[in-house]
This record gives sequence, structure tokens and C-alpha cells, in this order.
Amino acid sequence: MVKNGGTKIVLTASQTEISDFRNNPFIAFSGSFPHRMPIWSSRMLLFPPPPVENGRSRFAPYGLRKIEAGLLDNGFSQDDIMTVIPDDLNKVVGPDTKVVGISAMDPLGLAYVSFTYSTFLGWGNEPENMHAFQKIFRTKAIKKHKPKIIVGGAGSWQIGPKAQKLLGIDTVIIGEADEIAVEIFNKAVKGEALPARVKQKRSSPIEKIPLIKNAAVHGTVEISRGCGRNCQFCTPTMRKRRDMPIEKIVEEVKVNIANGNDMITLATEDLFLYCYDRTTKFHPNAMAVYNLIKNIAAVPGVNAIQPAHISLTPAVVDPEMISELTNIMYECCRYHYKGEPIITAETGIETASPRLIGKYMRGKCLPYKPEQWPEVILESYGILNDNNWTPLSTIIIGLPDEQESDTLTTLELVDDIFNYRSFLVPNLFANLEECILRNERRANFDACTDTQIELFQRCWEYNAHLWKQDWLGKNKTPMGFAQRLATTLIFNAAYLIYYRWGKGNLAKIRRDLLLKVSGTKPIEKISASLKAVKSALR
Ligand code: SF4
Repeated sequence: MVKNGGTKIVLTASQTEISDFRNNPFIAFSGSFPHRMPIWSSRMLLFPPPPVENGRSRFAPYGLRKIEAGLLDNGFSQDDIMTVIPDDLNKVVGPDTKVVGISAMDPLGLAYVSFTYSTFLGWGNEPENMHAFQKIFRTKAIKKHKPKIIVGGAGSWQIGPKAQKLLGIDTVIIGEADEIAVEIFNKAVKGEALPARVKQKRSSPIEKIPLIKNAAVHGTVEISRGCGRNCQFCTPTMRKRRDMPIEKIVEEVKVNIANGNDMITLATEDLFLYCYDRTTKFHPNAMAVYNLIKNIAAVPGVNAIQPAHISLTPAVVDPEMISELTNIMYECCRYHYKGEPIITAETGIETASPRLIGKYMRGKCLPYKPEQWPEVILESYGILNDNNWTPLSTIIIGLPDEQESDTLTTLELVDDIFNYRSFLVPNLFANLEECILRNERRANFDACTDTQIELFQRCWEYNAHLWKQDWLGKNKTPMGFAQRLATTLIFNAAYLIYYRWGKGNLAKIRRDLLLKVSGTKPIEKISASLKAVKSALR
């Protein structure tokens, strides 16, 4: 029941964006999987809502916290604003609610991972991210009281004019909203006319970016914004690169810790290039990076530091920086491999083809040349692995003008990577609206060549080969057996119920991959696992 006619400004995000996926940023990728996949019946298990205190969500997406902070810094009070989980919208939206602001990271499932894996996995293709976003608009109180709706966030570009009209969104903000959002929310509160679409091309100067006042999901703090390497398929590079001052970062770390986080996620396109000297070709500033991490690690209550992204070349340019950094970060690892702490971060290989690197992402390999890229990847992998780093690397399949020889070069690289520890995420090329290649055609599985399909499968064979040992291992406890049984059951049930029946090229690709990864005899595997559990319990 809504109190006092509702709150003036309500902020929210979909269930898959506001959940911390049990404090596991890696599992958050599963928001890209199809909504109708049976695993979503265990929604509360996989992505439960964050705790709610006095009606407010304890955690919220970092971008939404920035909007909240901007409003608080510009005349609104905490009483004017409620940041809530979507399930609580009916409790705070009422006749007095002027505006609901919604964060949208991947509202229609068009980002790389959603697009690739919702298509690949089947089950109707609608990613959970999309389903969860649209569910917000079916909230009774929103339909009844019709407050103004403003949507922004990294994925707001996905909402075209048609979808905007269909969902009843008054304003879509595309680009950095730190400054413009305050102006638009003010208009909404005063009942003035709102612009339908705002494309913010300007990158906000650091002094105009507000500091969060409440905790963000996964303890996120922004250490830098923008990139500067100019890969043509990418959106962060369209923004000017800025490094946040350490004092501001530490202030946000403290806000997160004071509100119940013990892990800090560093939002950045490249931790290794924090405050690098712009007169160099992406040479890291090791002292600045150590200082940053030391200052964050020194905040009481910080147990884990999780960088979002790194690039590979700084590891080759300055291997000593990696080992020094490891000395500090090893104590703050979020993840483990076979029981040992590991440091992880996402990075982009994208392709091993010097031709495609030279054509679309020449900056990615700087200060090296495109021809050196495959060897730079392997050398950086060696340095990172030796220092307990495990990169999670993306690979793009079906870049415009990708030729057989390009795919083969990447396939060879993946074979070489079998000697290293990593996690590979192959994605189909997607023409994101904000990137330079936006007018190119998206890749799709039906149009993939046999070699491209082989590359996709090879990446997942590699992941299964490496991570099976960690997840399933040789743990002989009843828990270890139960884990093995559950995995066998899930994979084989998926095969027996769904994947064995499909027709066509894509169905065959799925089937082949599932059988390669999980084994070729589902029934026998299930009964072997059951026998193993029985004997362990005896
Ligand atoms: S290095 Fe990464 S973040 Fe930078 S432009 Fe390339 S893909 Fe984008």
C-alpha cells in the first residue's frame, strides 16, 4: 500500500540489474540467458533482490546511484527520492509521484553477450535482461498513476522510438547523464514538457560527476571513464578518457563499505592504464596504479578488489608492474581456482588476425604493431598467469569482412591458449548503435562459416577442459559428488529434454557443443554419477 500519495522521484532498475547475483559479478552474465530456460525457475536462487531497508534498496546499479547523487547535490532531499527494487514499486509510486527513473544496461538484450547467448541457447531467444526490464512497465502503480518515465544507462541506445512508444517512456537519455539528468528530472517534477530523446555527446568533466551517496551493486566505484584506443566496434571509446582522483575514489569506497559491501569493483576500461602519461603510446604509470590499489586496500572493511577490465599490452610493456601489483592484490581476491586465490578481469582479444586488428582496432595493440598482436597476447597471458592473474577474454566472431584466413588465425591462437589459464567468451559481432561500425550488419549463427562455428565451439571446449577441473575436480566428499551429479543432471537433462530435438543448423551446433562439453552418453553418465554418490554415502 502506497504511503502519503507516493514519493516525488522514484528510481529503480530491473531485477537482473539490481541484484548482486549473490555477490558474484561473473554469474551476472547469466542475465543474458533466455528467460524461458528452466534455470530461471530458481530465480531467487540465482539473482535474489538486494536487502531492503526502510523501503529503500540497500544496493543499486552504479549509474543509478550517480543520478541519485546528482539530484541530491542539486536541491532534492532524501525524502524526495526513493531508490527501490522493482518488486516494491507499488509501495512508493502513487498520485504524487512525478517521475520514475529507470536504469537500462541491456534492456532489449541487444548487447554482445545477450545477443549471442540468447540466440545460441534457444528456449525462445528472449534474454532474461529484456524480460526483467519490460516487467517494470507492467507494474500496477505505474499504469495507474502514469508518472513521467525517464530511462538512461549504458544500454539505453537499444530503445528506439518504436519501443519507446510501446513501453510509454517519456524520455530516453543516451550518453553520459551526470549533468543533463538533473535538468530533465527538474522539468518532470515541475510538470514541464520533456524531450523525447536526448543524445548527450559531451563527456562530463570530472568536477561535474557527482560522488555516490549510497552503496552500489558489487561495491562499484569508477576509477576511469572512456578508453582512447578507438576500437571501432566499441562504445566506451566514444567518450573522452578521464581518470578519477584517488581521494574521490576512496570516498566512494567508504560509502560502499559503510553500507554493507566488502568487495570493491573497479569500473574502468583498463586498470593498468590508470593515470598513464598521455604523451606515451599507452605506457602504464605503475606508481599511480600501486597508489590507487594501496589506498583502496587500506580502507578498513575492504576484503576483495575486483577490477572490471584490463588491456593486455601493459603486461608486456611493464611485467614488473604486474608482479608488484599482485603482491598487493593477492590478499584481496574474489575468485579461486582449485582452492588458490586468483586475480581476474575482463579483457578483449577479439581476433588474432593482424589484418582485422589493423583495420578496426589498431589502437588495441599499441605500443606494438598489428603483426605482433598474436605473440603479444600469448606473452601477456604468460606474464599474467605467472602472477596469478586469470584473464576473462572476449573474442568476436563475424567482424565485417572477416575472411577464412582471419578466423583460422584466431582458431590457432585459441589452440595455443590451451597452455594457459583463462576463460574465453566468444561473441557474435553486434553493431552497437553508438560505435563506429554501427552501420555494418550483425553476425548470426546461420550465416557463420564452418570455421567460425569451430572457433565458437573450440572456445567452449577450452573453458570446459580448464574449468571442469576446478568446478568438478577430484573432491571425494559427498558435497563434491553432489556437485558433479547436479552438473551432469543439468547438462544431460537439457540435452534430453530440449537440445536433442531441434532441427536446422543452429540446433546441430548446440547439440554438438553440448555433447563435446558434457560427454556423449547422457543416460550412462547420469547413472554413473548416481552410483558414485551412493557409494560415497555408504
Ligand atoms: S581497448 Fe577495449 S575499451 Fe578500449 S576501445 Fe578497445 S574494446 Fe573499447
